Amino acid sequence: MQYYLNGFRPGDPDLHEAAQCRRETGGYRPLPEKVDVLIAGCGPAGLCLAAQMSQFPGITTMIVERKPGPMEKGQADGVNTRSMEMFQAFGFGETIKREAYWVNQTNFWRPDPENPSHIKRIGRVQDVADDSSEMPHTLINQARIHELFLDVMRKSPSRLEPDYNWAISDLTIDTETDDHPVTVVLENTGVNAGQTKTVRANYVVGCDGARSNVRKAIGGELHGDAAHQAWGVMDILANTDFPDVRQKCLITSAHEGNVLILPREGGYLFRMYVELDKLNPDERVTNRNLTVDHMIAAANRIMQPYSIDVKEVVWWSIYEIGHRLTDKFDDVPEGETETRNPRVFTAGDACHTHSPKAGQGMNVSMGDTFNLGWKLAHVLGGRSDASLLHSYTEERRTEAKRLVDTDHAWARIMSAPPGQSELDDSDEPRFMRQFKENLEFTGGLAVKYDESALTGAPAYQSLAKGLEIGRRFHSAPVVRVADAMQMHLGHVAQADGRWRIYAFAGRADKAEGASPIVSLCDWLEKDPASPVVKHTRKSEDIDALIDVRAIFQQTFDELDYRFMPSLLKPVKGKLGLQDHEKAFCVDHKGRGDIYLMRGIDREKGCMVVVRPDQYIAHVLPLDARDELADFFGGFLLPLEE
Ligand SMILES: Cc1cc2nc3c(=O)[nH]c(=O)nc-3n(C[C@H](O)[C@H](O)[C@H](O)COP(=O)(O)OP(=O)(O)OC[C@H]3O[C@@H](n4cnc5c(N)ncnc54)[C@H](O)[C@@H]3O)c2cc1C
Repeated sequence: MQYYLNGFRPGDPDLHEAAQCRRETGGYRPLPEKVDVLIAGCGPAGLCLAAQMSQFPGITTMIVERKPGPMEKGQADGVNTRSMEMFQAFGFGETIKREAYWVNQTNFWRPDPENPSHIKRIGRVQDVADDSSEMPHTLINQARIHELFLDVMRKSPSRLEPDYNWAISDLTIDTETDDHPVTVVLENTGVNAGQTKTVRANYVVGCDGARSNVRKAIGGELHGDAAHQAWGVMDILANTDFPDVRQKCLITSAHEGNVLILPREGGYLFRMYVELDKLNPDERVTNRNLTVDHMIAAANRIMQPYSIDVKEVVWWSIYEIGHRLTDKFDDVPEGETETRNPRVFTAGDACHTHSPKAGQGMNVSMGDTFNLGWKLAHVLGGRSDASLLHSYTEERRTEAKRLVDTDHAWARIMSAPPGQSELDDSDEPRFMRQFKENLEFTGGLAVKYDESALTGAPAYQSLAKGLEIGRRFHSAPVVRVADAMQMHLGHVAQADGRWRIYAFAGRADKAEGASPIVSLCDWLEKDPASPVVKHTRKSEDIDALIDVRAIFQQTFDELDYRFMPSLLKPVKGKLGLQDHEKAFCVDHKGRGDIYLMRGIDREKGCMVVVRPDQYIAHVLPLDARDELADFFGGFLLPLEE
């Protein structure tokens, strides 16, 4: 962690200096007339976006929430490894690691063939494949995630706080102007219920859940089907003789339905999803008068011969499975993308809903807005043309479609009675096989963006076979040269809207003389054609937009730090202090060799270009200067100042 760049400040290093230009936000302050970004909804999607935008105090952001305050309990609890990697970038990955339950194994229980009214464990599956991520798959309540995002916002240079008790009721877009063209009607839901207020915004993001008003206002509709099946969910403190209560378990009984057990943070709490009766197609869950007592009774029937003695029900809800997707994630009508840029977006449950079984709701919602946040910051910061914003729908709708399809298939498999057809066609039950096949997907690691202005062609993919273009940057261990610190390379990336170029040196390159790394760094730092020179303002630090890091194959003590190019030890900030954290080498102490682990060409080395949301944008040879400049020129504007 780096701090004191602009002078010593005592106290919490996460608390950034408040920016002079920030807007005062939060309770009892008058609402602004105009903002750059207006976010609807303090769920995971909205808060992830607000936390990202709060890093840019020059951009005025407002987040409104219809409820009177932050969520306290309930809803989603699964944090997949990909989201954990993102939390690391926001600075609270370690906090979650400490507090959460880690899902190491998933166990499968089915009817005992010798006594089908009893269940029996039939298998265990390792939940996170070795070296699929450096982060664990965790379970923790959604409210805690909200709190940690709120904390990032509060401590940011913007000191951003939500405006509670305000709901977006409607909005209109004036396509004739670029000056805050979206007029939003906010309705008070608190003591002045019904009072309305109008705010104008440059961009509006509807993170307002499955019944989104923002989606409705732009004519979006959720399409798809509900599986007409009710699942109850309860977070309980309970005792049981079931031996696997501290393991994630998928349990199928012969005639009573299914249960999913999710152990939770703190060592005592656990969640149970219980399959309730099949619903008739014309029935809604709310009409069924199902209660937590039905759920506890059903769980006890399903889990025979074991039983559960519930001491406290912390939260419960009844859920109808639905897999739905909107046709568009922004306000631009089909066929007008060439002539019109988006002003209003939807994210999270507002544009795709799915069952809780694959644990994706919260994760994919945050993935949406992590994708959008840096793009909004680039456009509003004058770094990119507004047409960049089309890429949000292009990238995220494809992913959402895949999610909805996979989730649909999985929910069907989970709900099918044991012994039926496709399920038991080999030694290993089909649902166990399917679970294993889905692991990369449920870990959030299967996301792959197609070739575009932001995702380069794979012409040089062979230089880094394990760092596939379009997928997230898969971290690996390294040692920092300046202080011999063992660490993860991916953890240098913060949620700060910056790009990273990881320059992997060829075998003999020690950054001395005119080695390929030295000449690349010199070109990047000084040449007018370099993307660093072209797209960084003169008033900014050299790494304000593109942060270059180099990795060498020698041990740290074989490298002479004195001869490193100046781009790898730049002077920055108000005091002109030297940054010592740009050069790394292979970890020779046994945690793994990044070249070997990620298939990097030892002889030639390469450049890996990584987006602000941690996805790999390009892999290029170290001397591919024109290609690198063209790539960045494809979506960044040259900056004169
Ligand atoms: C009752 C319930 C139970 C759930 N249970 C589970 C579960 O057991 N497991 C699981 O994986 N997932 C569950 N989910 C789904 C999971 O919580 C979501 O997938 C995830 O929270 C999606 O995040 P989001 O930010 O898109 O939307 P949400 O979390 O739904 O957040 C939307 C927010 O917007 C606010 N809002 C709504 N309308 C407006 C408006 N017009 N203006 C301003 N604010 C508005 C809402 O109050 C809410 O705070 C549940 C969801 C609900 C609603």
